[in-house]
Amino acid sequence: MNYRSMVLVSGDPRSMERGAKAVYEQFQREINALGLENEVSLSWVQDVGRSDAVPLAVVYPEATIYGPLKPENVQTIVEEHLYKGRVAPGLQAPVRELSGHIAWISARKGTLPAEQRIILKRTGVIDPTSIEDYIADDGYQAFADVLTNMQPKEVIDQIKASGLRGRGGAGFPTGLKWQFVAGTPCDIKYVICNADESEPGTFKDRVLIEGDPHAIIEAMAIAAFSVGANEGYFYVRGEYLLAQKRLRTAIAQAEEMGLLGDNILGSGFNLKLHVHSGAGAYICGEETALIESLEGKRGEPRSRPPYPTTNGLWGKPTLVNNVETLANIPPIMRNGADWYRGFGTEGSPGTKVCTILGKVNVTGLIEVPMGITLREVISIYGKGMANGAHFKMAQTGGSSGSVIPSSLQDTPMDFESYQANGVSLGSGALLICDENTCAIDLAIVLMNFFRKESCGKCNPCRIGTERAYQILKNIAEGVGTMQDLEDLKFISKNLIELSSCGLGTTAGAPLENILQYFMPEVEAHIKLKVCPTGVCPMSGRKVYPETKLAQLEQA
Ligand code: SF4
Repeated sequence: MNYRSMVLVSGDPRSMERGAKAVYEQFQREINALGLENEVSLSWVQDVGRSDAVPLAVVYPEATIYGPLKPENVQTIVEEHLYKGRVAPGLQAPVRELSGHIAWISARKGTLPAEQRIILKRTGVIDPTSIEDYIADDGYQAFADVLTNMQPKEVIDQIKASGLRGRGGAGFPTGLKWQFVAGTPCDIKYVICNADESEPGTFKDRVLIEGDPHAIIEAMAIAAFSVGANEGYFYVRGEYLLAQKRLRTAIAQAEEMGLLGDNILGSGFNLKLHVHSGAGAYICGEETALIESLEGKRGEPRSRPPYPTTNGLWGKPTLVNNVETLANIPPIMRNGADWYRGFGTEGSPGTKVCTILGKVNVTGLIEVPMGITLREVISIYGKGMANGAHFKMAQTGGSSGSVIPSSLQDTPMDFESYQANGVSLGSGALLICDENTCAIDLAIVLMNFFRKESCGKCNPCRIGTERAYQILKNIAEGVGTMQDLEDLKFISKNLIELSSCGLGTTAGAPLENILQYFMPEVEAHIKLKVCPTGVCPMSGRKVYPETKLAQLEQA
C-alpha cells in the first residue's frame, strides 16, 4: 500500500518508560477517528539519538520530530500535520543548530549536516524489524556487490585505504586486522562481533543494533567473505535483550531471503551467524576473555601473543570487531575509501558515536566527525553546562578512559591528538563534570568499579585496585597521609605496566590523571583535611556503605 505519510514513534527502553505505548495507541485512535488509516502508516522506531525529547514521533516525508509527547498532544499532531498538512505548533522537539567549528567543517566539506550521521543514518528512520526497509535504503547492496564483483583481497584493500580504525577503544587499523586473519592459512576461521558493551555510560552499540541490526549483519557477512570465514558470532551483553531479539529476527529474515546460509546469491559462499548472550562480566569485552567465554570457559583474558587473528576461537584464526567498527563497513564499501576519507581527520577518518553524560543541559547520543573538540561537543550538542556551572573535568571513554582537565578541552578528538596528550578516546562515552565534582570522589567511584570487575587473574590488578580504593577512601574520610600519594603513584604505575590485560592498564590511567592534573585538590584533602567541593565524607555529606556498616558493627 502506498501511504502519503509515515509516523514513527520511538520505542527504545527510555521512551517506553516514559509512556511511548500510550502515545502510540493514541496515534492509532486519532488516525482511525479521521479515517486516515489507508493514508498514514504508523510504526515503532528505535532510539533516534534524541533522549532529551522522548517519547517522540517522527513524521515523514517532512521528517518533523515531535517530542517529548504525551497522549494529549497527539490529537493536535494528527489534525494539524496529518490531516491539514501543516506542522503542529509548539510540539516540535528543540532544534540542534549548527554553529562554531561544526559549521566551519560543514562549509569546508560541502555537504555535512550539523550532526554527521553515517552509521546512525537509519537509526530512528527505518523499522528495524523489517528487512524490506533496510533493503529499500541500499541495504545489502554492498554485500551483493562484494560477493559478485570483488575478490577478498580487493575488499581488504578498500578497508585499508579508507583508514578505518577500530572503534572499541584501541584504534587499531581495521583493514590490517582483516589482512592478518585472511593471511593465516586454515580451513576454519571465525568472525565475532563484540557487542558486550559494558563500559559505564556507553550505549552506542545497543542503539546501533536495536535501530539498524541488518547493517551489522551485512558488515559481518562482508568481513567473513573477506577473511575466509563461514561462521560468525554476535557476543551480546546479557542485559541487551532487545538487541539480541533484533539480531535473531534479522538473521532469520536474511536467511529466508538467501542473504545468509548456503550458496549465498549463487556465489558458493556460505555463512552461518549465531547470537550468544553474555553473562554480565565487564572483562568479557576484552577480546580474548570474550573468546574464552564463548568457548564455555570462565571469562578471563588469555596471555598474548598469540593473538586471536591466528589463534582465536577454538584455536582458529578469528576476526573480532566491535559493533561500531563494523557499522562503518557497508558505507565504505558502497561509497568508496575516498568518500570515507572526506570525513574526520587525516589520521582518523570517519565519525565517532559518542554519549554525552553528566552536567550538561542535553545528554544523549551523537555521531560527530573525528577531530571535533570536547568544548564543541559540550556547547553544540550538550547545549552548554547545566545550571550555568563551569566545566572542571571530563572522563573520556568510560571508566577505562582518561580524566582530562579544562586545559585539554580544545584538543581535537581523534586518535593521534588524544594519544599525543596521553588521553584515551575509549568507547566514546563523555562524562562531563562541573566545579561541584570532587576529583577524589570520582576516583573512588572508578576504582570501586575496577576492583569489582577485576577478574583476579593477576596481582597488580586484583590487589592494586582494591588497595587504591581503600587509600582513596581514607583520603576522602580525612585520614589520608602524604605517604598515601606515593603509594597511589606506585599502584598506578604497576597497574599500567604490569597488568595482564587492558582492564588493569586502564584502571591505572584515571588514577594517574587525577594525580597529574588535580594535585592541589588532592593535597587539600590530606594536608588541610578539607574537600574543596564539600562532597567527601570529611565534609559530613557522605558516608560509604562499608564505613557505615563498620560503625554499626562497632556500636
Ligand atoms: Fe584480570 Fe585485571 Fe589481570 Fe586483566 S589485569 S587479567 S582483569 S586481574
